[in-house]
Amino acid sequence: MLTDAHEAIRKAVRDFAAKQVAPIADRHDRENLEIPTDILKGMAELGYFGLTIPEEYGGLGLDYASMAIVAEELSRAWLSVGSVMTRNLITGTLLLAHGTEEQKRRLLPGIASGDLLTAAAFTEPDAGSDTAAVSTRAVRRGDDYLVTGAKTWCTLANRAHILTLLARTDPDPKKRHRGLSILLVQKEPGDGFDPPAIAGEPIATIGYHGMKSFSLSFDGCRVPARNLIGDTEHRGFYQLMATYESARIQTAARAVGVAQAAYEAALVYARQRVQFGQPISHFQVIRHKLADMATEIEAARQLTYYACAMKDSGRRCDLEAGMAKVFAAEMAERVTSEAMQIHGGYGYSLEYPVQRYWRDARVLRIFEGTSEIQREVIAKRILET
Ligand SMILES: Cc1cc2nc3c(=O)[nH]c(=O)nc-3n(C[C@H](O)[C@H](O)[C@H](O)COP(=O)(O)OP(=O)(O)OC[C@H]3O[C@@H](n4cnc5c(N)ncnc54)[C@H](O)[C@@H]3O)c2cc1C
Repeated sequence: MLTDAHEAIRKAVRDFAAKQVAPIADRHDRENLEIPTDILKGMAELGYFGLTIPEEYGGLGLDYASMAIVAEELSRAWLSVGSVMTRNLITGTLLLAHGTEEQKRRLLPGIASGDLLTAAAFTEPDAGSDTAAVSTRAVRRGDDYLVTGAKTWCTLANRAHILTLLARTDPDPKKRHRGLSILLVQKEPGDGFDPPAIAGEPIATIGYHGMKSFSLSFDGCRVPARNLIGDTEHRGFYQLMATYESARIQTAARAVGVAQAAYEAALVYARQRVQFGQPISHFQVIRHKLADMATEIEAARQLTYYACAMKDSGRRCDLEAGMAKVFAAEMAERVTSEAMQIHGGYGYSLEYPVQRYWRDARVLRIFEGTSEIQREVIAKRILET
């Protein structure tokens, strides 16, 4: 159940999003511009990069429902802004659960404050859903690892200060998930790190503008061994899978936000648009579309809050997080498509933001584990008992 404190958080983030994000979202999307620094600064001042990081490490120490509310409301204005903070929450969650005390003290305050932005470098050209197939090598040489390989789809690689990198520390590829580790690659030169090369231009996409994704190439890049998450090699796959619970909850919340924006736009349009001498909202078929959209959004929202409650109680929640993610992502695709339908031809024009919601919603079924992979996670859990 949400409390008054949660509602206060919703009000604050709504105000921020309405004043700072909504007014620039359409133009930045259309012109494929990056999220303005002012917005990142504003989010940092409100503590959004460290929502669930405990106060002792510089965060706000809030619960997952608070995080879901902020992710939802920012995404309601622009998915990319709702997403930028979730990068830091993923790395923060990884460090909190699996980092050494020294790593937490050294890195979490910067991540929580937003002074350090992070990006996830998990996917490779030949290893997407099959995370255990990652082939980028990290070879220990004295106090360093030397990293060689290629990553792709690393979103925010150009602006992030830290790349959260999944690499193979056991040379035997047959070890698959048992041979992987996570290294934090800091991009500042002069601190013992060699940053990777960003290979070429950002990957051109149909949506999710504002966040640019890159291919990366590592050629013997030096990463100090103190940045291996935890102090044991070959634990990376398990660390990542445990972190996916929170990543999928965040993604479900973002999907709810995008769908809510599309639904609200459709509601306004249906009341204003007159055909056959009356607002189209008088036609039962349109009313029922709106009713279905509102119902589906609320179902996804409540499923997301349920996964948050499970997470906050410290229980395993890969099942609930997977259910929330797959349902919310697919719901967002349906709802944004129906919102476009209600706008008729205008919905297909660039004049109305509904096309942005529809293009943005589509990616939610793909990243943080595709819908097909979520169903595998769910099926595994329900069949294992
Ligand atoms: C805009 C965007 C941003 C991204 N940002 C990041 C990022 O910041 N960091 C990062 O590391 N990655 C990122 N990704 C990559 C994303 O996580 C992958 O695209 C995703 O995991 C799927 O991998 P893939 O594209 O290689 O598809 P594949 O794994 O090749 O899948 C292709 C199809 O086969 C299906 N499939 C695969 N395996 C199975 C199976 N076992 N059972 C049933 N179906 C299966 C998939 O569901 C999919 O439909 C991003 C992707 C996009 C589009």
